[in-house]
Amino acid sequence: MNPTPRCAVLGLGLMGRPMAERLGEAGLLQAAWNRTPGPSPSSAIALSGTAAAAAAETEHLLLMLTDGRATEAVLADGLEAALRPGQIVINLATVGAQWARALAARVERRGAAYLDAPVLGSTGAARRGELIVMVGGTREVLERAEPTLAALATSVHHTGEVGTGSRLKLILNMLLARYVEALGEWLALSEAFALDPHQVLRILDESALSSPMWGKARALLDDRLPLHFPLKHMTKDLRLLDEEIERAGLSLPAAEAVHSSFEEALQSGWGDGDYSLIANWIRRRGRG
Ligand code: NAP
Repeated sequence: MNPTPRCAVLGLGLMGRPMAERLGEAGLLQAAWNRTPGPSPSSAIALSGTAAAAAAETEHLLLMLTDGRATEAVLADGLEAALRPGQIVINLATVGAQWARALAARVERRGAAYLDAPVLGSTGAARRGELIVMVGGTREVLERAEPTLAALATSVHHTGEVGTGSRLKLILNMLLARYVEALGEWLALSEAFALDPHQVLRILDESALSSPMWGKARALLDDRLPLHFPLKHMTKDLRLLDEEIERAGLSLPAAEAVHSSFEEALQSGWGDGDYSLIANWIRRRGRG
């Protein structure tokens, strides 16, 4: 095991940038690249001109791109050809199990290894190195990736083969989506019944229904919900889960209902806001 792997982060969006900053502080960041050039995440390095150039200098390639299609485009645009045996592509984005398997096959054809490693936690957790990572791939490759993942995460869970990390992540995002949808519905109801939503929250906090997730309700009521996780990305994940549900031959009406709420909000132009604003969208829809 290499105790000080050289890392590259490809994709410096809302999540990739704080991850790269964190790796920079840990002395692990050797290269970074983003399709749209911008400032470097670390004063110790200059941005690479291409994804392939970033790969040339590093052993661990951390991918944090929007989805499977974006990742495939970056592979096709020179990254795949630059991969070599001994490297590990650690895909931390949420791409879904089908994409994870297809991307792994492309990477492995070049003799490099692939980890399907989506993360739980948002921009603040990424910056503090407090993510939770769910990893599909072999134990041997995961062990080699551990020094890098340890800089980003408080816990790393091996879930099985490539694809299992993605599947687990989609279940968790479905629960997140359900929470914020339920939040919109109880807010709509408390408004319609002329109840004080702050009192509802106090009672929730005292009860078996207490959850840190209801902190989002306070932020919503105070009108301060910064962008952490765009609604368009949550909709992508619910779409991926819907496909998995269909493949598994299941009928899960509540999961389908939350997915269609997010699709409608996306169609109405809410895609670039934080996913928890779905609660406001539901409050408005509820008023007709
Ligand atoms: P984001 O801010 O929208 O960033 C997306 C990144 O992908 C940007 O660097 C973008 O480059 C790049 N990209 C998109 N299409 C591309 C293409 N065709 N070719 C090359 N680069 C492309 O998204 P994010 O919030 O960081 O999320 C990234 C992934 O992590 C997603 O899968 C998301 O579901 C997942 N995730 C997000 C969070 C969160 O809280 N935000 C939490 C957990 C997991 P440009 O700058 O050039 O557009």
